Amino acid sequence: MTEQTGFQYIDGERRTGRGGTLERRDPATGDTGFTVDLASAEDVAEAVAAAQRAFVGWSRTTPVERSELMLAWAGELEQVAEELAALESAQTGKSLRLATEFDVPGSIDNVRFFAGQARSLQAVSAGSYIEGTTSMVRREPIGVVGSISPWNYPLQMAAWKILPAVAAGNTIVLKPSEMTPGTSVMFAEAATRAGIPAGVINIVTGTGPVAGEALVRHPQVRMTSFTGSTAVGRHIMGIAAEQGKRVHLELGGKAPFVVFDDADLEAAARGAVAGSLINGGQDCTAATRAYVQGDLYEPFVARVAELMAGVRMGVPSDPETDLGALISHEHRDRVHGMVTRAVEAGATVVTGGMLPGADQAGSAPGQPGEVPSSGAFYPPTLVTGAAQDSEIVQDEVFGPVLVVLPFQTDDEGIELANDTPYGLAASAWSKDVNRCFRASAEIQAGCVWLNDHISITSEMPHGGYKASGFGKDMSVFSLEEYTQVKHVLANH
Ligand code: NAD
Repeated sequence: MTEQTGFQYIDGERRTGRGGTLERRDPATGDTGFTVDLASAEDVAEAVAAAQRAFVGWSRTTPVERSELMLAWAGELEQVAEELAALESAQTGKSLRLATEFDVPGSIDNVRFFAGQARSLQAVSAGSYIEGTTSMVRREPIGVVGSISPWNYPLQMAAWKILPAVAAGNTIVLKPSEMTPGTSVMFAEAATRAGIPAGVINIVTGTGPVAGEALVRHPQVRMTSFTGSTAVGRHIMGIAAEQGKRVHLELGGKAPFVVFDDADLEAAARGAVAGSLINGGQDCTAATRAYVQGDLYEPFVARVAELMAGVRMGVPSDPETDLGALISHEHRDRVHGMVTRAVEAGATVVTGGMLPGADQAGSAPGQPGEVPSSGAFYPPTLVTGAAQDSEIVQDEVFGPVLVVLPFQTDDEGIELANDTPYGLAASAWSKDVNRCFRASAEIQAGCVWLNDHISITSEMPHGGYKASGFGKDMSVFSLEEYTQVKHVLANH
């Protein structure tokens, strides 16, 4: 049976798009799972027109009005939290537990955080800098924001884009990934029920080349905020450059995990497993390359392999499941292809690295448990012996795969950590505060965790260095992305 998950949500109501439909397989079973309604360029233009009309009123609301509406929105989302978690898990294949404990509460917390931020935003600075005048600075919204989001955390990515934009008085048209549009629509509908006016938040559920490009190119869209792959981000930046528009890009990552030789081995090994397997490794900040110093290398590999063997891969709805399915069969095959090529190039698979249902005779520990062989499952996979310049060390795998490599000196560890084009997140593990702070200063990434890997909070900025993009999501810094400042001078 197919379920419809994508709808156009324009001017406060659901509509059927004029771009046809997309059939998606259920990632956990392989059956035909979802029908996604696709937007045409005309649908996108109607959504932008609705957002443009709504901007007039919304940009004039007071911070208190916006804040109160957003708090009511958080309450509406609480009412549908279970439905949101169930749909998020069904669309993505991620475990229902992760959706229930992380994706949904995290998104609702974001709403509350930005409801508060709306009230601290309109700071005005004033002073007399030229005799007989008074100058002020106003912080103002930009207008209609066009946002494009990926499939890995559909609800949270929608929240990260929509919330700072509307808290600052902008209106928005969001195009979620065509793989996973359902919860973004539910998120916007809850805003309408809370009293946020029609047209402030619009969702177009379409493909990148059709709906995404139409949104980026639309002349009334003043800014594009994008989360997704580095390749698509660069393409979007090219379009924005032609039109001289603002862009905010949250792109790919390849997070290093640097373990110095005085680190707490058990904590580091547990951190590596949790940090590499979160969301099936389909997390732009997931630990992907562990560099381990000196004598700690062998025991670290052994302990991570042991812990990975204890991870329960299973159907997403089972509350015992730690690791659900990957987003699609095509993506699972891509992940497996990268592991296979690494082995062909001389790397060793310590655990995992096999498709469920494959002949597992003589396989290493940590092989898949009871999962439908027709689902897009991939086991926790640990790889050693890969070359630093190889594909699996340099490129995003976006799957439950951790590569471990040795290093000797502190300088070498930091140099290896910085040796990819990406710079989104990283972690360093040591009991020595000086080593930790040196690593935090010298690793080129938008986030460096010390003796932790993966914790995020609404109050702190998230965003990349280098090829991982620029601009920040979450925190007070994200409000700067969605506002512009104006100098007003009064002559008196
Ligand atoms: P993707 O780049 O393939 O797609 C992202 C979005 O862009 C989708 O909505 C897609 O429809 C749209 N798109 C594709 N082509 C387009 C075009 N020509 N014009 C306009 N829009 C277009 O990425 P994905 O596979 O959905 O997501 C995985 C990627 O997202 C990974 O690279 C991951 O690292 C990245 N990501 C980054 C962050 C971050 O905060 N930096 C967070 C989550 C995911």
